[in-house]
Amino acid sequence: MSDKDQEAAPKAISCPDCQAGNLHLKYLTYFTQVEGELITVPNFPAWVCDLCGYREDDPRAENWLHILLNPRTGRRSLRKPRGKPGRTRRDGAQPG
Ligand SMILES: [Zn+2]
Repeated sequence: MSDKDQEAAPKAISCPDCQAGNLHLKYLTYFTQVEGELITVPNFPAWVCDLCGYREDDPRAENWLHILLNPRTGRRSLRKPRGKPGRTRRDGAQPG
């Protein structure tokens, strides 16, 4: 018989760096580079440790930002390969 206490999901996330502090959601300026250009994003959600200052960007927001900043987003190449190469009939047409 196992008697396990079911832990409710904790609201505070313990810091993976110092493991003593807690991560809190804060809105900071995010810096990134796109094609050599520095881009700053104000009020970007990030998890910051209240003890050591460890910062972890919100993965969802970061992912979303990368999609937005991707110059190739929204473009689709509609090229279709024409025909299938490599399927030739040998009907005995011999050159020479
Ligand atoms: Zn910490």
